[in-house]
Amino acid sequence: MLASSAIMTIRFWSWIHVFPLISLFAIQPGIWGQASGQTARLETADTKIVVEAGAQGPRLTTLSGSGQGSWENLASEPLIEFVEIGDEKIPLHWQFDRDASHSDEKSVSFVYESATPHLRLTWLWKAPQPYGPVEHQIRIENLSSQELWIPMQDSLDFNWKVAPQLPLQHLFVEKGANTPSAVGTHEAAITDGYRWTGAASTYGDIRDDEPREIIPWSLVQRQDLQAGWYAGIEFSGRTRISLERTKDSLRGAIGLNPDPAPFGTRLAPGESFESPIVFLGAFRDGPDGAGNVLHRWVRAVLGNPGTWHNPHYPLIVNNSWGGGMAVNEEVARRMIRDAADLGVEMFHVDAGWFRGVGDWYPNPEKFPNGLAAIADDAHQHGLKFGLWVDWTQAGLSTHPGALNARDPKVRSWMVTDIPKDWEPEPFKGQTIDLGVPEAKQWAQKEVERIVTDYRLDMLEHDGYLVAHGCDRADHPHAAPDPLNKCVYKTWGAYFVDSSNSTDVSYHAVRAYYDIYSKLRRDHPGLLFEICSDGGRMVDFGTAAHGDYFSITDTYDPVSNRRAFHDTSHVLPAAMLESYVEKWPTPHIENFRYMLRSGMMGWLTIMIDTNTAWSPEQHAAAKREIDVYKTELRPLIRDANLYHVSARPDGVHWDGEQYWDPERQRGVLYAFRGTVEREDTHAFVLRGLDPSRRYRVKFFDHTSPDRTISGRELMGKGLKIKLPLQNSSEMVFIERAQRRQ
Ligand SMILES: [Zn+2]
Repeated sequence: MLASSAIMTIRFWSWIHVFPLISLFAIQPGIWGQASGQTARLETADTKIVVEAGAQGPRLTTLSGSGQGSWENLASEPLIEFVEIGDEKIPLHWQFDRDASHSDEKSVSFVYESATPHLRLTWLWKAPQPYGPVEHQIRIENLSSQELWIPMQDSLDFNWKVAPQLPLQHLFVEKGANTPSAVGTHEAAITDGYRWTGAASTYGDIRDDEPREIIPWSLVQRQDLQAGWYAGIEFSGRTRISLERTKDSLRGAIGLNPDPAPFGTRLAPGESFESPIVFLGAFRDGPDGAGNVLHRWVRAVLGNPGTWHNPHYPLIVNNSWGGGMAVNEEVARRMIRDAADLGVEMFHVDAGWFRGVGDWYPNPEKFPNGLAAIADDAHQHGLKFGLWVDWTQAGLSTHPGALNARDPKVRSWMVTDIPKDWEPEPFKGQTIDLGVPEAKQWAQKEVERIVTDYRLDMLEHDGYLVAHGCDRADHPHAAPDPLNKCVYKTWGAYFVDSSNSTDVSYHAVRAYYDIYSKLRRDHPGLLFEICSDGGRMVDFGTAAHGDYFSITDTYDPVSNRRAFHDTSHVLPAAMLESYVEKWPTPHIENFRYMLRSGMMGWLTIMIDTNTAWSPEQHAAAKREIDVYKTELRPLIRDANLYHVSARPDGVHWDGEQYWDPERQRGVLYAFRGTVEREDTHAFVLRGLDPSRRYRVKFFDHTSPDRTISGRELMGKGLKIKLPLQNSSEMVFIERAQRRQ
């Protein structure tokens, strides 16, 4: 149970008695600064913070959690020091406004004001749930009567005091993006001199010469305690997390990406800048201990309650991309019939259905009766209907209603001028900047029309929805730097890089969130799949605006398992979609291995099952889909997840384990790789009670069912024997009634 409380006191000396863990170092006058004496405390079952309002700036004083001491912060939060009005740079003098500040059990807001120009800065902390991390945001309002420009304000900046020899470890996770890389989940020792920056945007892995993007999240643990803290960013624009250790200090910054500099954003009179919300949590029991709390928290705080209330979430889907762009009415109807027979729950039409890029109307040659007829057919077969749309891309179609790149209005929304001979790719065009109010309005109307006219239960967005950078000086974002600008073409579209790129993404992402928030309000129950050429938009901002993610754009079994292994460290498994594509399956065991590699989260089959699957494979798939719905789905939704092997490499064995402590049930997914001699492997299970006995049932009967003690399962492990390479087993685990 949480002890959620907030203390507002002017006697700041008093709390050192309350928090004996905090050393006297923290309250030496020089470090304390000119304390106004106002402190507050925010607490969940996992995370405790103490914050302090100095006269000129606020400070996160300590972060602590059970199983570890406190992390003392040596630095006040750096607040922006100047604004620009016209060509003039005006220094700011922030003053604490005690009367406007507020603190209660669930939130703390310290307010600072600048007299000239008149600005208000609100430094916010929230505990949205009684467990898990706390959230932090900084809001800057322009209360003056003039337009002004503000420089970079980070979301969170800290400098933990750490003992010089303290063994610290850093964990961060790449996006699955186009293809999961060879590493994916990174574990690095944070030794003296460690310097790291991880960046995220909506374009992960678009250029070979840039480092892989991270899911904007990082975890730091004390190796001796398996405890520490983690932080993440609830925003999809250009963000970064940086860490630097020097002797007794671990500095970090989390927020928008200041690179390329200089960042500036415009504030009209009355407008506000809101730093991306970050969350900060303490954890114990290692990265899986952190992940299992964070999964629940993401579901409760960021997730759509309507989605999670549906007991059929996550759904099983069949998608038309197995046949590429060749989808048509006949293919769709045939796939719907077979999907219904297999027990699939949604039919998803991928790219290829439309007249042209930007012209999001059904191609009359492929769909002579329109798309609503296909939706009706799916519904009559008991299936939901989903649709792929790349709705921010302009093409060259001249049909009424199409987003035509040559239309002067549309041209002014696009991120750069395109040459006269430009043509879109079959399903990719030129991105418009949603940060332009007219463009946003058009997009809002267009997605509303698509959802209504085509009777959608699910809308998937793809392509590059958010402008990468923008060449225009007349958009709401900052103008590009003409001397430091790069325009390049890749995948049939033009991209811009300049010092305004972060501000461009700040505006475009907020517009995208507005569009989806309204769509969700107007269509409760409508599902959103987040896709950006695969898993390039996997972050906590999209987690708050969509229902599930395409986690990679490579669909073979090992890539699916790698992307799942990585992403499931931070996001709920139910939100993690694997597309299962056609793969060589000479034996039925290989077929089950292929399916199960995508069955640990949200399963989307991307195969025309009519033509690709034999009767034996149909029967096997039917059984797998049935066990997914009855046994696996409840675990994927609610259970704890343990990464019980090294990251999958396709060569050695790998596996993931679910364990639901409420229902005392779980499952081990075991996958055998390609090493000829390795036909057995023992998985050391987690989360069980060593003093209890557990019934283990081998779904494929590769070993006899039996009862095993928790001590053995968590010690020697659960032995699996699989004679074939590229095969698998699912072992269901249930607590036996009798004590040991
Ligand atoms: Zn723009």
